[in-house]
Amino acid sequence: MPMSHSFAWKFGIALVLIAVISLGLMGFSIYWSTTHQFESYIREVNTEYADRLAIVLSEFYTQENSWDDIQDKLEYFPHFKNDRIIISDNAGNIMGDSAGELLNHNITELDDIESTPIVISGEIIGELYILETHDGPDEKLMIPRQFHPGSPPPPEPEQRYLRSTINSLWIALGAAIVVAILLGLFLTRQITRPVHKLKEGTNRIASGDLSYRVTIDSKDEIGEMARSFNSMASSLEKAEQSRRQLNADIAHELRTPLTVIQGTVDGMLDGVFAADKEHLETIKHQAILLTRLTQDIRELSLAESGQLKLEPEPTDINSLVQRTINQTRTRAKDKNVDVIFNAGDNLPKIPIDPFRVSQAIANLITNALQHSAHDSMITISTSLLTDEDINPLGKSAICISVADSGKGIDAEHLPHVFQRFYRVDTSRARNDGGIGLGLAIVKQMVEAHEGKVQVDSTPGTGSTFSIFLPLAS
Ligand code: ADP
Repeated sequence: MPMSHSFAWKFGIALVLIAVISLGLMGFSIYWSTTHQFESYIREVNTEYADRLAIVLSEFYTQENSWDDIQDKLEYFPHFKNDRIIISDNAGNIMGDSAGELLNHNITELDDIESTPIVISGEIIGELYILETHDGPDEKLMIPRQFHPGSPPPPEPEQRYLRSTINSLWIALGAAIVVAILLGLFLTRQITRPVHKLKEGTNRIASGDLSYRVTIDSKDEIGEMARSFNSMASSLEKAEQSRRQLNADIAHELRTPLTVIQGTVDGMLDGVFAADKEHLETIKHQAILLTRLTQDIRELSLAESGQLKLEPEPTDINSLVQRTINQTRTRAKDKNVDVIFNAGDNLPKIPIDPFRVSQAIANLITNALQHSAHDSMITISTSLLTDEDINPLGKSAICISVADSGKGIDAEHLPHVFQRFYRVDTSRARNDGGIGLGLAIVKQMVEAHEGKVQVDSTPGTGSTFSIFLPLAS
């Protein structure tokens, strides 16, 4: 990705721009307020200085009653070393000039330099001018002490102070901008590094490396995103593993009946087997098995991928169970097994897909019949469980249980019986036509209704499979 388009680049530029613009604005506002505050401070100080000097001069005038001797006494009046003091009488004649040059001239020569009136009892008896003299590069400059915005710059020492303050301000600003840029680059790196890791992760997953996980430990949103990313990757990996496993299982399951069919047909063609009823029935049996296998695999994959279309309708569970039992009567009769139905009282109708739930119950009854001895009994019960009753759903539910008195299932097999293609006794199951998908389908059908299925079994005594369906899903 070109550098100019990268997130890090945009983020870094934004961060540095924000820092530089805000520091610049801050610098200019400090510069502006410092110069203005400083000018008004100097003005205040100078006005006070001029006012005080005017008072002292008015006291002199009160004593002398004229300005005649002021020129001789001028140097004794308190003033700054470099200041030039000029005093005019109320007619505008210059009576005193510490530089001596303008003595007996008229104040018109001072142009529009500001002055401070010298007042006695409300009457103006003269004007005071204070000028600062200092050596300029070529000539001697005269700068009025009193100034206002727009007037010439403040006197030399103050100007020096202001200049050095402003210089320090620019240096501090420059340093702050450099620090802001460096900090901006550092922070950009820190913040965008996890984003880069996530990007690397998505690339790896996209290229098929589903075992890749990102390592970001932060507790912020990016950390959360990384955790979600990792759990997404785990789900993908699991789904991929299960897809591969399913393919392998299907291939394995198809091989046995196909081998039997092929072997029998070859035997008949070679004249090893007679093409009689017995061998044709073997072929038919394997073909039926294959048909069941493909049907079951289709159902199971639809359910596992969440594509099973349920058509729920308020259903009376007792009549549904009764109908399902009726469908299995012939098989029960074959083994002379008594099927007893204990229908629970006052079961409310629940919104389920009757076809799918009946399919699950039928699988449990078929298994129970399969694993029951001749002349035995299986019991099917329904009951209503309230919030207080202990059940795996933790809320009001209807329980349908199928109990047989068969040989039961050993504890080591119990946790696996709902896995697809899991058989307790592989060789016997095959002979019985068991393909290890019945219970996996039950589980998927029940879970599609937000229900649960569980098994209790005591070897030698029998097994009880229970389906729990919530009253409202
Ligand atoms: P299958 O189609 O092979 O019966 P299932 O998924 O229905 O596959 O069952 C998985 C395994 O659980 C079977 O191999 C069987 O041994 C065992 N099983 C299922 N139901 C019962 C039961 N009622 N009694 C004893 N074992 C059972």
